[in-house]
Amino acid sequence: MAHEPEFDLFVIGGGSGGVRAARMAAQRGARVALAEAAAMGGTCVNVGCIPKKLYAYASHYAHDFADAAGFGWDVGQPHLDWARLKANRAKEIARLNEVYERLLSEAGVQVLRGWAELLDRHTARVRTEAGPQTHTARHILVATGGTPTVPPIPGAELAVTSDSMFDLEPFPRRLAVVGGGYIACEFASIFQGLGAQVTLLYRGEQILRGFDDEVRQFIAGEMVRSGIDLRLDTELRGLARAGDGLELELDDDSRLQADTVLFATGRVPNVNGLGLEAAGVRQGRHGAIEVDAHYRTSAPSVHAVGDVTARLQLTPVALGEAMAVVDHLFGDGRRRMGYEYIPTAVFTHPNIATVGLTELQARERLGRVTIFRSEFRPLRHTLSGSGERCLMKLVVDAASDRVVGLHMVGPDAGEVVQGFAVAMKAGATKAQFDATIGIHPTLAEEFVTMREPVR
Ligand code: FAD
Ligand code: NDP
Repeated sequence: MAHEPEFDLFVIGGGSGGVRAARMAAQRGARVALAEAAAMGGTCVNVGCIPKKLYAYASHYAHDFADAAGFGWDVGQPHLDWARLKANRAKEIARLNEVYERLLSEAGVQVLRGWAELLDRHTARVRTEAGPQTHTARHILVATGGTPTVPPIPGAELAVTSDSMFDLEPFPRRLAVVGGGYIACEFASIFQGLGAQVTLLYRGEQILRGFDDEVRQFIAGEMVRSGIDLRLDTELRGLARAGDGLELELDDDSRLQADTVLFATGRVPNVNGLGLEAAGVRQGRHGAIEVDAHYRTSAPSVHAVGDVTARLQLTPVALGEAMAVVDHLFGDGRRRMGYEYIPTAVFTHPNIATVGLTELQARERLGRVTIFRSEFRPLRHTLSGSGERCLMKLVVDAASDRVVGLHMVGPDAGEVVQGFAVAMKAGATKAQFDATIGIHPTLAEEFVTMREPVR
């Protein structure tokens, strides 16, 4: 560059990846600016993981109230005050927005409020309230996340996306959810628990494509048990207003009434109006930014992390990538983000959590695998009277004895699986699982006590 740039790092996007990168770079002495067009914290804090999990907690109370009677508690007829839940959530999210702002300013990051775009490989323009500002930087990091995408069917504009689900007014008595991925399944479970009558419409033969087939079948059964009307192999032709609500036309010519229709049909990278062409940044499918092993784009001074690269759309992945970029640019460059054995959870009721390979992936990649599987009624439900069941499954590489896949559907599955992910990352074998003493009585102990393979 002809002149010394104003900043060492200019970050576009104040979500999971952007905030982490800005903070860490500033803590290493870099001069850092971060531009954010909306609320600080991005998707996860404002309309993703955090409010979703808070509502999942709210939803689980419905099951707890029902379970309590068998333990001797009379709790009367529970009633949800939707307005109070929304207000309490909004207060907590506002607190988190401030925490993020403070973390950035305390680290010495200059925060710019407004939409940012690239003018060239070292220059960004931010449309602030006070007018456009142009800044130069040695490195630019694009961490602009993603946004929901909706299929172009008639009446789609009458539906909502996950962004609107947290503040719905009024509470949807009848909710139709389109899709069969993380968001569709989580919101179907959450709103069913909160008291809505939920219909889940999925175009394929089983929800949660990409997860282990037994897990998919099992959670589908549990969702139906909890009262969700799950319709597989079903497509929505269109929707229209009908009276106070909406009428959906399905591909079998049937019709369905709903107050709210949620499209949970995937997310696309946030790249419109970013000026990527001006900087010579190459894009792939749906505009996703292409990066190399160090998150560098085709423009060497521009890096990208998180959902805008459309790889694994998870907060800890965006955080891990951000830390790897900062280490590469301002540290010793030894930090790597490992994409193997990334654990993940789906906050349905009950939860799903998984790490490693599905049975099918393991068979395709490794050939001979041994499967251990346990399905049972959790101890809690011996008194609660609930018919809810739990599934635990291990996929073991027969040649090395290494546990290559671990899957659970059951209460707090995410909490259980996180620890096992450490063991699997460290290469734990089935013999080592067997040599581990269980904690009794827990659900988790089942993972170290399954002795007889099922196949
Ligand atoms: P984001 O967090 O989306 O941040 C991008 C930021 O960039 C946004 O704040 C946006 O306003 C800003 N921005 C965009 N363009 C510009 C611009 N031109 N100028 C200035 N600012 C701009 N992941 C999990 O791990 N666990 C979960 O439980 C989970 N639940 C989820 C639930 C829902 C409903 C959704 C939608 C997602 C969930 N995710 C979850 C995924 C997770 O939220 C994302 O993977 C994560 O937020 C990605 O971080 P990011 O930094 O890439 O982008
Ligand atoms: P997903 O990609 O997980 O699922 C999209 C779903 O919509 C799939 O079932 C897909 O079907 C279906 N679909 C796609 N296009 C259409 C269409 N035109 N008509 C009908 N159905 C369609 O996306 P989500 O929106 O659920 O979530 C986005 C990402 O956010 C997730 O992949 C995940 O990475 C992240 N996330 C993580 C969470 C967590 O960690 N707990 C929670 C929520 C989100 P098909 O399978 O047939 O393609």
